[in-house]
Amino acid sequence: MNYDVIIVGAGLSGSTAARVLAEKGKKVLVVEKHRHVAGHCHDYRNEYGITVHTYGPHIFHTNDAAAWKFASRFTDFHFFQHRVLSYADGQLIPFPINADTINQVFGISIGVDEVEGFLASQVAHSSFNSPPKNFRDAVVSQIGKRLYSTFFEEYTRKQWGRDPELLSPEVAKRIPVRTNRDGRYFSDHYQGIPARGYTAMIDSMLDHPNISLMLGTDWFDIREDLDAKTTIFTGELDRFFDYKFGKLEYRSLDLVLKTLDQESYQNVAVVNYPNDYDWTRITEYKKFLDEKSPWTTVCFEYPKQEGEPFYVVMTDDNMAKRDKYMQEVEKLEASGSWLFIGRLAEYKYYNMDQVISATLQKVARL
Ligand SMILES: Cc1cc2nc3c(=O)[nH]c(=O)nc-3n(C[C@H](O)[C@H](O)[C@H](O)COP(=O)(O)OP(=O)(O)OC[C@H]3O[C@@H](n4cnc5c(N)ncnc54)[C@H](O)[C@@H]3O)c2cc1C
Repeated sequence: MNYDVIIVGAGLSGSTAARVLAEKGKKVLVVEKHRHVAGHCHDYRNEYGITVHTYGPHIFHTNDAAAWKFASRFTDFHFFQHRVLSYADGQLIPFPINADTINQVFGISIGVDEVEGFLASQVAHSSFNSPPKNFRDAVVSQIGKRLYSTFFEEYTRKQWGRDPELLSPEVAKRIPVRTNRDGRYFSDHYQGIPARGYTAMIDSMLDHPNISLMLGTDWFDIREDLDAKTTIFTGELDRFFDYKFGKLEYRSLDLVLKTLDQESYQNVAVVNYPNDYDWTRITEYKKFLDEKSPWTTVCFEYPKQEGEPFYVVMTDDNMAKRDKYMQEVEKLEASGSWLFIGRLAEYKYYNMDQVISATLQKVARL
């Protein structure tokens, strides 16, 4: 069969692109190397009736009405406001930092109108490079040394396996700091978890007569046999170019699941462990969809160097390599036959809503 478009990868970016193009009348073939769709958003219901996120906890949150509207065409969203506790100094403390966090850590009792002044005085008594040269500078310049040490320093070492001073200040852009008492992890307008799970949402996106799906197939093994006017690549950027500018580093995770004979394990879905233990966080999955079961499944996350690529590592070296690869991408995209989309193909940290919106914008170019 002849296809108008080949899409490499059935993750959220590949599936969004496939759906949009199929609705425009294009015949699309999606090639996926895993035996499942949904990429990193994949989830499944285990034998205890609990929906487990295969590659770690995923919460959909956005201020982008278009991304929310697009996702909502393929799923209902279960109302969920994410709250995270951080285990530090022997107590469970609300995170990200808000007025309650500060009061608990410092044993004080300031009001919301005093938070900004308090953080400014913490910053004033701390030393850092300005403008920030690295992750440490970026965080300390926002919240001061003490809160940085409590919540970020060791967590960052565990998560990234390197000194915070060796990480780009860009990484700290994602850290929300609140000057109020809002204990939610995200303050976005739209938040939720797909009511039947992410895999069902992606299945529904791919369910279109113009979309064919080939699972368990690495595109590099069959690329010579495929012929289409356009190819959309959502796989690894460095691999596409045969690593000619060197390998791009990823941080990986060991996700260790345990099912326990008890109804609840912790008060919230996610508890962070910045300083103690080898794991970075524990997720209790049933809390996302408020699933009822006498059992509970929890997931311990252990960051590691090798394995399935999870997170882009923002060092100067990786970013310099990325720039070189992206110059090649620009040339290919200018030819009109290629698009590179998503967290692997652009070597970029993307949330799910950002993936949808970047894909909608890029595909509109075709
Ligand atoms: C632990 C973790 C937690 C996260 N939590 C959140 C969250 O709470 N909220 C949020 O918004 N985002 C979260 N994200 C980000 C989210 O997972 C991504 O935004 C999204 O999954 C990216 O989709 P993608 O299609 O770009 O990439 P992927 O999901 O990686 O999809 C790419 C697909 O391409 C396939 N592929 C690659 N190479 C080939 C090849 N050669 N041939 C065939 N197929 C190939 C892969 O198998 C994969 O299925 C999290 C990410 C991680 C790692």
